[in-house]
Amino acid sequence: MQLLIRPSPFSDESLESYLLRLSDANFFESYQELSDALWQWLYEHDHEAAGAFPKELHLVNVYHAHQTSSFRVRALTLVEKLAGLEISTLTQLALMHSSIRFAGKTAVFRSDIDIPRSFLRVAGIPICPQCIKDQTYIRQFWHLKHYNACHIHSCDLLKNCPSCNAVINYMQSEKISYCECGFDFREASLSDTRRETVNLSRFIVGQQIDSTNHFFNSSNLSFRYGALLWFYERYCKLVKNQNLVMTDCFEYFEKWPDVLYLELNQQVENGYLKQTKLLNHSSFEDVFGALLNDSAYLPTAELNKNLILKAIIEYFVNLVGNNPKSKEPNMADLLLNINEAAVLLCTSTEQVYRLYQEGYLKLASNLKLHVKLPAYQPAFYLRQVIELRIAKMQSQRDGQNKYVSAW
Ligand SMILES: [Zn+2]
Ligand SMILES: [Zn+2]
Repeated sequence: MQLLIRPSPFSDESLESYLLRLSDANFFESYQELSDALWQWLYEHDHEAAGAFPKELHLVNVYHAHQTSSFRVRALTLVEKLAGLEISTLTQLALMHSSIRFAGKTAVFRSDIDIPRSFLRVAGIPICPQCIKDQTYIRQFWHLKHYNACHIHSCDLLKNCPSCNAVINYMQSEKISYCECGFDFREASLSDTRRETVNLSRFIVGQQIDSTNHFFNSSNLSFRYGALLWFYERYCKLVKNQNLVMTDCFEYFEKWPDVLYLELNQQVENGYLKQTKLLNHSSFEDVFGALLNDSAYLPTAELNKNLILKAIIEYFVNLVGNNPKSKEPNMADLLLNINEAAVLLCTSTEQVYRLYQEGYLKLASNLKLHVKLPAYQPAFYLRQVIELRIAKMQSQRDGQNKYVSAW
């Protein structure tokens, strides 16, 4: 079997889009027909890989594979051969499972860029009619939830068919430029959009935004996505009175870090007002919620790249400095669990275990003999962790600091 017509993939094309175009170009009636033929061919050549190759377009991407990512990659490599493509052409278009996590949440990666998995659209893939008119293929960015306007044509992406109102999803319809009702998306009129929406799209594709703010100057897309995810989880996700939307991130980060510090000051004030027990018996989480865990890996803990964590650590260094130890416990006496201590020390939880086993950190209350400290138990004084950080941190070079040598 050979596929005689071999379109070239575009570098920003989605894998599903390319397979659809490959199927069309070779006169298969549907992607299903191509995938049946591929499946048959794979089965004869490498039945393990065939088993890992799904027949449905919306499941074909590698990150959908659970235990069989490597077989899926093998199947794609065989398809590359059939399509006469250079090796790894298709795997570079694929979204793979990433070993990186964004604040504990799963990620996928493509072309060395880590993307929070929660950024991927699940229902419907909107399109830019003008981009489709220029070149008929689906851009990978259209799969990202926060990309809502075309950064080239400054128009809103088209989410529904202007004729039948169906949600546009090429993976279901198997059509890129037409709706199932026959409407030609290239004929759709472009609608103007807000400047912030285009800016957000430009930020997502890696363009420079006019700003002196460090947040917008990072050229690394994974770090940009980390900051967006943090903002989204903190301000946009929960329905609160003053819910923000994603495009508010520009205004927010222009005022960074003061905007966060004002909020944390408010939390400190509330913490004093609502205090039901002594602060040296209260957990950090009672006052600041999941602040530290949500900011730890975005997706790195290196402070010169994780500006959010850097600002938060600076805040607590100042808080401890401004709240000296006194008879009356204060905010610097809150209790951190082992994960939170690890975040503030920019080290691993194993290192924190070592630090208390070797006496650098003291537990706020005694543990029973031979009991391992549970990860979520508030155990270390904020003051002591920050003091240790200041005392030991002068030679910090990377994100993972070592305080005591390995066993
Ligand atoms: Zn466009
Ligand atoms: Zn339609």
